[in-house]
Amino acid sequence: MALFRPAILVISDTAASDPSTDKAIPTLREVFSVEGAGKWTEPLTAIVSDDVIEIQRAIRSWTDVEDESSNGGIVNLVITTGGTGFARRDFTPEAISPLLHRHAPGIVHGMLSASFEVTPFAMMSRPVAGVRNKSIIITLPGSPKGAKENLLAILKLLPHACSQAAGEDSRTAHLGGVKKLEKDAGVGSGTEKHNHDHSHHHDHGHTSGHGHKVPKAHTTPSERPQLQSNDPRLGASQRYRSSPYPMLSVSDAVSVILQTTPSPTVEVRDLSPDLVGYVVAEDIHAKEAVPAYRASLVDGYAVIVADKTSTSKSVKGTFPVASVSHAQASSLPPPLQPGQIARITTGAPLPDNATAVVMVEDTIISSLSEDGKEEKTVEILTDELAPSENIREPGSDIAIGELMLPKGTQITPLGGEIGVLAASGTQKVSVYEKPRVGVMSTGDEVTDISHSGPLHGGMIRDSNRPSLLTLLRGWNLCAEVVDLAVARDTPHHELETKLRDAFRLHDLDIVITTGGVSMGELDLLKPTVERALGGEVHFGRVSMKPGKPTTFASVPIKDSSSGERERRLIFGLPGNPASALVTANLFLLPCIQKFVGLPNPQGLERVKVKIQGRVRCDKARIEYHRVSVALDPSDGRLVARSTGMQRSSRVGSLASANALLVLPQREGFIEEGGECEALMMGVVHGY
Ligand code: AMP
Ligand code: MG
Repeated sequence: MALFRPAILVISDTAASDPSTDKAIPTLREVFSVEGAGKWTEPLTAIVSDDVIEIQRAIRSWTDVEDESSNGGIVNLVITTGGTGFARRDFTPEAISPLLHRHAPGIVHGMLSASFEVTPFAMMSRPVAGVRNKSIIITLPGSPKGAKENLLAILKLLPHACSQAAGEDSRTAHLGGVKKLEKDAGVGSGTEKHNHDHSHHHDHGHTSGHGHKVPKAHTTPSERPQLQSNDPRLGASQRYRSSPYPMLSVSDAVSVILQTTPSPTVEVRDLSPDLVGYVVAEDIHAKEAVPAYRASLVDGYAVIVADKTSTSKSVKGTFPVASVSHAQASSLPPPLQPGQIARITTGAPLPDNATAVVMVEDTIISSLSEDGKEEKTVEILTDELAPSENIREPGSDIAIGELMLPKGTQITPLGGEIGVLAASGTQKVSVYEKPRVGVMSTGDEVTDISHSGPLHGGMIRDSNRPSLLTLLRGWNLCAEVVDLAVARDTPHHELETKLRDAFRLHDLDIVITTGGVSMGELDLLKPTVERALGGEVHFGRVSMKPGKPTTFASVPIKDSSSGERERRLIFGLPGNPASALVTANLFLLPCIQKFVGLPNPQGLERVKVKIQGRVRCDKARIEYHRVSVALDPSDGRLVARSTGMQRSSRVGSLASANALLVLPQREGFIEEGGECEALMMGVVHGY
């Protein structure tokens, strides 16, 4: 087994001016050789004064090594002693903290609790510990006795920590479980359970079929130092450099969303065209019959026809016109006298005793009234009129009590549902509430589209907000779609304030943000949700292209009327415009569908299409390729054509796209004519 290499840095103005006064190096050297279980080489040593630059220079000479194999290998552990107190020249923690890529508060805790066993003066020590590159750095107190006690408290665990920091795969290291680690280290915990999440996800870049290079990291997450915090105030040096959020599949992400989305609530609304998009919350039965009276289906003359068994005269012949029945509300026409007929218009009520209507086409006028304006007598040319012909009997369109819209039916913008409810006397409708949704952009560079001058510097036009507002309004699934403008990245709390206002003042159920979810320094959404709003990030990454950083979170908000805490939802969509629209279609739609009570909230409609031209698949992620789907009249099949370059910043890939091709995660192409699944965002295009 290779030995670990320690280094001891004495930080003391006195020792720096006269090294012979130093007692720390011999004490600590002995600890390594006697108590180190043979795991350590002879320590490297150095002495510096209490000076930030000197301290940092000495440490970096050990930790920032270009060639790890030179000079006896990398330094695995840097121990400092001195400068951790409250004296005017105690700078050690301040010098070392900025050097730490990852903090190790557990080690600090271990040392302090050991010291507290000895003396309450442990409070006077300000140790730090952590990892820089592949080395662990730990600050010990300046007194040789205290330094020794502190080192002894943690020494047994250091070989394991050093080997991990040096790059050992943690999966291999933990193969035997924590018990084995404890045994190897010669320590015991007494606890049985230990939660360790070591899932690592690897993304592989590639060249897409549509002429752009996809950004690719050249390191895997396990090769990168894991910074310890998502606190935006800590600055770039201490923030995550790769996402600590587990990567979900698209279908798992949708399941999480549906589980988190609240169940629909019922409200009663007036019947009106404003009901479009609502889902009815109970079976709706007809209150009234349609028609309510016997009505004519045609323009013509109401007659009395004898039924077949009767011996009375046929209807053919010339008859006096007794009355006129228009479709009007005020009265019903008088009954016919034998031998009379009555003029009637479509939809008008029949005289009580009329039994059929002869169409005007089957008649001619025989004589006119005195003023020449009305017919006096009419000749009926046909004898083939059956009883009930051209009559709509009461309730023959809709019978009273008939089920018109079963629970779960959505009122579409096509008019049929509103029509049937209106016709049958429904005035109040039980529906599920629609959510109130807001759309907010984030980013200092994001400029409102009303900005009239030319763009300068890094400004970009805020295309996400208008395009998402349009998408949401088009769905007809929101009670209100609120434009929440832009939250700037600086000051940091602007996003927090705007989110609070969105939920409290605007009383929104769902807020959609774009931007601020990737790994940049100013990607504030996740920390704002977790730290400032006390919310929960349900997922922060999805294995898909585009849209990988898609984030879904919920925050507890006190409801203004009931005073109860409710979960309100946040969709943190990626900033790139194509990603934002694609992910809104994939993730937001099923959420809102559940919210409004659709019984099967599955998002976009799935169809099978054949492919025009060949399309490259991505071997690492499922890809949603924007296409135009039309009906091919030659074979009656749907055919999908790419909208061109698919880079996630190119919102143009969605202009004129009506579908997302679901390219399976695999190597190679789907060839011309090959079949693939597509998700329809709009109606099928003309060919
Ligand atoms: P971010 O995740 O905030 O780093 O954003 C990713 C990319 O999307 C950056 O290039 C942003 O400039 C861009 N972006 C962010 N918000 C918008 C927006 N509202 N409209 C258009 N592009 C945006
Ligand atoms: Mg941003």
